Order: sequence, then structure tokens, then C-alpha cells
Amino acid sequence: MDINIGLGLGDEFDAMIHNAYGTNDVTDHVGRIGLNDDASKFYRLVKEGGQPLYPECKKFSRLSFLVRLCQLKCIHGFSESGFSDLLELIKEVFPHVNLPSSFSAAKGMIKDLGLDYQKIHACPNNCMLFWPENERLENCAKYGTSRWRVVEKKAKARSDANIELASNSKIPAKVMRYFPLKTRLQRMFLSSDFSSSMTWHALSRKKDGRLRHPADEKGWKSMDSKYPKFAAEMRNVRLGLAVDDFNPYGSMNISHSTWPLKELWAVGIETYDARLDNTFKLHTSLLWMISDFPGYGILSDHKWRSDRRRFNGDVEMLSCPDILRGAEVEELLRGYENDFGKPLKRNRGTSDCPWKKKSIFFELPYWSNNMVRHNLDVMHIEKNICDKILGTLLNIGGKTKDNLNARQDLEEMGIKKDLHPVKCDDKHVQISASSFDMIKKEKEIFCSVLMNAKLPYGSASNISRCVQMKERKISGYKSHDAHFILQFLL
Ligand SMILES: [Zn+2]
Repeated sequence: MDINIGLGLGDEFDAMIHNAYGTNDVTDHVGRIGLNDDASKFYRLVKEGGQPLYPECKKFSRLSFLVRLCQLKCIHGFSESGFSDLLELIKEVFPHVNLPSSFSAAKGMIKDLGLDYQKIHACPNNCMLFWPENERLENCAKYGTSRWRVVEKKAKARSDANIELASNSKIPAKVMRYFPLKTRLQRMFLSSDFSSSMTWHALSRKKDGRLRHPADEKGWKSMDSKYPKFAAEMRNVRLGLAVDDFNPYGSMNISHSTWPLKELWAVGIETYDARLDNTFKLHTSLLWMISDFPGYGILSDHKWRSDRRRFNGDVEMLSCPDILRGAEVEELLRGYENDFGKPLKRNRGTSDCPWKKKSIFFELPYWSNNMVRHNLDVMHIEKNICDKILGTLLNIGGKTKDNLNARQDLEEMGIKKDLHPVKCDDKHVQISASSFDMIKKEKEIFCSVLMNAKLPYGSASNISRCVQMKERKISGYKSHDAHFILQFLL
């Protein structure tokens, strides 16, 4: 099932500690026989954190107050010493308050609960992580790019005297936040409620052949029949990895996978299940990735196939491509050497291989047997397309897709001559207006239609607030609004 791995110091954390592992629940677990060491430590810490902030305090526990403070620290960027000073002041003014006395002690509490994250420096060009055997490197091993954004002058001057101090004042160029997966998975079973939710797909799901849950779908079922041992333990977890823009596996050189996916598949982790009061070996598989549109070109039997005029002048007669099974993709990529980082020069590629990268997931023993390895996030794609259409219709600089590049493409394909760029002189090129170009007045009418649209209650957020009449722009709408704009308004 899909889970939110990025469980940070947000509302979920607060809610989880309070509702899922509330004081009663914790007291109930003390003395249970099935408890392992990890679980008892966790319950003990939650119990400590669950103490009231001050005697008689009902609203805040020690832990929930600290979490709120940590949130403020993140949002407003308090320094660590500022945070410690604030704690000291609170303790001085309210002597009965039950709080640790420094930032490091507060952080330690959260860390012991296994809910913190690690910061790992990365090359700004995405070639590599400075981790773990590269942890001490100062420059990217591939292009020599500095690991630091700014090397402060002061730090430079100090560096001869005190290297340790100097490195503390440098700002890393790129930071990856890594949420340890194993502890997060274990924590999910420490609450009876959570644990029930984790097995909902097996115990409570309606199985009438309709598609409602990923478990109703072919890919899930085919994995179950191929790996019956994995499927037999209903508490095993199927992961979905959602990626947007940043793909730690596609562009980072990680010879050892960041998340211990291989180990979680082959060995598993000892996990205490609060619902059944026993420990079991929890295994996980990566079921699929969810990403945005990677550029699938042709849909079979589409009317555009015979549309010569709008495309390259030919009728498309080829049948739709066969769906490649994972094993076939793997075969085509046998021996493929990945070249990480953004290429410094734009390279259209000379080899016959259609791919630019070999996914690290092929190292997972089951990945090539996985039927649906990738999913597309349709709402996200629709939002992107809506952005592009509005940008093009309203001819918003930098946003319109009817730009010089597009016109040069038409020229290269030799179609739509009247839209080809025209040379004015040696330096300047002009592009003519398109049939859909609007004058100022027309743009205003267009915007006012969106602005004044009356929508059924709850169908979309207030789109009118996203219309900037003066600039004749539309921005700041959410993906659901984009769906509404595309499907109904346009
Ligand atoms: Zn690099």
C-alpha cells in the first residue's frame, strides 16, 4: 500500500504521537510479552514525551510542545543557540515547565523516536552524493565542482588555523534530506490502529472485481502470484515511490541504494505488531513508481494518425509498439553504463539505445518481473498541460510554447510555411502571429470569463482569485482547478 514516507515534523507527527500512541495505548503495552527491545524503547520514549508540559496541562504534552517549537525553528530559521536561549527563557519564566534545556537535548528526543531525518550533501550537478565513503570530499569526483555554495572569506582566513571551524561556516550547494525508511515502517505497526490500516487491503477490502485499490489491479496480483511467500504475510508492505522533478535514483550515482530496499526484500526487519502483540519479519517490495509524463508519443488508432496537415506531412501507418516486459527492457539495457549528472553539452545521442539511463531498480531481484513498473500522475500532468495552454493562449513571456524553438521545428519539418521564422537581418528573427493570438481586449475577455465563472460549490477552489486581470495572467491555481479549467471552462 502507498504510505507517506516523508513523515516529518508536521501535523502528522503530532497527530501520530497523540492519537496513535496516546498515553493509554502506551501504558497498555508495558509488560506485553511480544514486545521486542526496539518497541519497548519507543513506547518508553513516547511515555516520557507524553508527560504534560506542566502539571495540570491538558493541551500540550512535553513532546507535542517541542515539536511545535521545532516547526517554528524551521519556518523562521532560528539558530540552534537561539532555540536553546528560548528554551532557557521559557524555563526561567515558567519554573514548572517540563522541557529539556537545550536544542541538542530536544533534537535528541525526536531522534530517539526514529522520526528525524539525515541531511546528505549532493553535487549541485547531481553527479554524486557526499556519502558515505565520499563524505570527506570537498569537490565532485567527476567535474571537480565545489561541494559548497559560498566559501565565506572569514572561513577562508580561518581555515589554516582551524579547519573544523571553517568547514562549519560553509554553505552546501545542494542538500538531500533522507528519511530513514526502516524505523518509519516499524513505527507504523506500533499502534493497533495503524497496524489495522496496514492490513486493510487483505482483511477489510471489498473484493468484487471492481478497481478501487491498488490491490485490485493486475500488477499487484501478478507480483503476488510470482512471490507467494511474500504475499502470504499480509503485513508485508508494497511501496510506491512518487517522484517529481527530482529523481534520486535516476540522476544520482548511488552504487549502494539509499533506501535499504534490497535488504527489506531479502532479509526483512524485526517488527513489533501492537495489534497482535507479536513480532514478525517485515518485508517490503517496491511495486511501482509514480511520475509525470515521460513523453509517450503515440496512442493507437487515434484520428491524428491520418492527420498529415498538422504534423510532418505523412500518415502514421505503424502499429502501436509492443509493450515491453521488464525482462525485455533489462535485456536491451544489458551492460549499459550510466552517465550521471546533467550533460554539460546538449547531446542527442549517437547509439541506437532508446534510453538515457538504466534504472537502479533493476538491481532489485523482482523488478524485471514487475508488470507495472511506472505510473503516471494524471492530475499532475493535466496541471502542467493547463499551464502550457494558458501560457500559450495568453502569450505569456517564457510560458508560451509557441516560441522560436517551436517555429524552428516547423521549419525543420518543412510544414506550415507561413509560420516559419523570418530573418530581419543578421541578428534578428521574427515570428508571425498565430491564428490563436489575441489582442489585449480579447485577452481581457478571456480572463474575465474565468474570473466570473460560477462553479458548483466544492467543485474547484475559487478560480477567480487566480486571475490577474491587470497583467492578463492566470496563476496560482491547484491541479484540481486545472482539471476544471481544461475539462469544462475551455
Ligand atoms: Zn558533479
